[in-house]
Amino acid sequence: MYIAGEITSGSNRESIAIINPATEEVLGEVPSGKADDINNAVNAGLTAYQEWRFTPASERAEALHQVAAKIRARHDEFVKLLTLEEGKPIPESDEELWWTEETFDYYAELGRHDRGLVVPPGEPGQFNFTLKEPWGVVGCIVPWNYPLLLLAWKVAPALAAGNTVVVKPSELTPLTTLKLATIACDQLPEGVFNVVTGYGREAGEPLVTHPDVRMVAFTGSLATGQRIAKLTAHEMKKLHLELGGKDAMVIAPDVDLDVSIRSLAYASLLNTGQVCTSTERVYVHESLFPQFTEELADFVSTLRLGDGLDKNTDIGPMIRDQFREKVEQHISEAVSNGAHLVIGGERPDEFERGFFFRPTILINVNHEMRIMREETFGPVIPLMPYRDFDEAIRLVNDNPYGLGASLMSNDARLVKRFFEGVEAGTIWINDPLTDNFAGPFGGMKMSGLGRELGQEGFDQFRQVKHVHWDIQGGIKDYWYPY
Ligand code: NAD
Repeated sequence: MYIAGEITSGSNRESIAIINPATEEVLGEVPSGKADDINNAVNAGLTAYQEWRFTPASERAEALHQVAAKIRARHDEFVKLLTLEEGKPIPESDEELWWTEETFDYYAELGRHDRGLVVPPGEPGQFNFTLKEPWGVVGCIVPWNYPLLLLAWKVAPALAAGNTVVVKPSELTPLTTLKLATIACDQLPEGVFNVVTGYGREAGEPLVTHPDVRMVAFTGSLATGQRIAKLTAHEMKKLHLELGGKDAMVIAPDVDLDVSIRSLAYASLLNTGQVCTSTERVYVHESLFPQFTEELADFVSTLRLGDGLDKNTDIGPMIRDQFREKVEQHISEAVSNGAHLVIGGERPDEFERGFFFRPTILINVNHEMRIMREETFGPVIPLMPYRDFDEAIRLVNDNPYGLGASLMSNDARLVKRFFEGVEAGTIWINDPLTDNFAGPFGGMKMSGLGRELGQEGFDQFRQVKHVHWDIQGGIKDYWYPY
């Protein structure tokens, strides 16, 4: 762990073994941090905050650019380690690293752009302005599916705004975070960047409930987000929550079949379907449905499962067995209620070890089934036909989540109806799951509170203070006595 710029194994001897999901080999061990480690890290963050918040923005920017440059210099090492601990194929790890590096550069620049706004005063001789100020020590809790990218989306804006951070990575993927911490701690003043490894209950909860942590930036499941909201309600902490999703894709009748099949396969199977914005429900216009299903099955059957380190791999393993079991439960429940398995639905037999699962296509599904309602988080594509576009939009909105939604169409009238009618934080037309540094990312409905990326993602990490200054002074006619 990294506390106050020092590497430490913490206060107890317990450790967590980190496993390669493709081979089930142990890659290493990290300390299982507890409340006293969190306390030490928060104290270090609080001490460092007194100076970091007043460090000129250009100096903070320079430090963040240095972090980006040093990660870039070791890009290939990070890529390999990310594939080893998370399982995703090398091109996907490469992409995640690029995003991580660029995010530090992006917020370095945004952070020195403004500190508030001058607003028109109510009376002459007065001066009104806002100051955007940091919160203090921010607790950053990250899941396993994009351990570095999601870390950067929190830490880079938090630090650029003058906060200090205590990071709690997922207990499944802490190795790349610790590698990044060696760089960050080298470039940043002592105590500005702290990492405590450990489990959610033992390290995460002491972090979110620590009285000196005024803001919690969390990405993870809805259940954990709800628990954090309950735990922090009493102290009215600032919460930035990026939670789960059940994203839909609509295939309009005008599409090019080949383009939409490839786009859907990418949107559903990227990172083995373990993306918060994975397409997990697909509504295909009834005129295309049989041909679309057949050609999708043909294409998906050509994708190659394997170890992410192998350059011939398209789809890696899932992260752990319990996640694979949940996928199997969703599929078997759907099949026993009338769904039809087009391809997949089982573990491949060509691997002796690793948490692999065959990409799966299901038809005859409906909204009563968990596979169409709850987050499945695996390589499954359930397809449902629709008759008219109003029905498609109604089906997309028929879910408690509202993270992202995609449409494949070149008909501008349908596109407009889609982006106005769909309740989701991100709408992708013809290019699903593509982010943009300047474009805010986050969910509507139960998918979360707040946004990451862009100016919106920066302002989450700043609180606004309004200063009203009567420069003239003097007695006002609206004071007592009336
Ligand atoms: P998770 O909620 O189990 O864990 C996320 C993090 O929270 C981990 O670091 C974990 O140790 C910690 N944690 C667990 N219990 C905690 C507690 N009681 N208090 C404090 N911290 C606790 O989620 P996961 O399985 O790691 O990640 C998958 C989930 O993340 C999916 O639901 C996915 O949709 C979601 N996700 C959302 C986004 C987004 O941007 N909206 C992005 C990626 C993943």
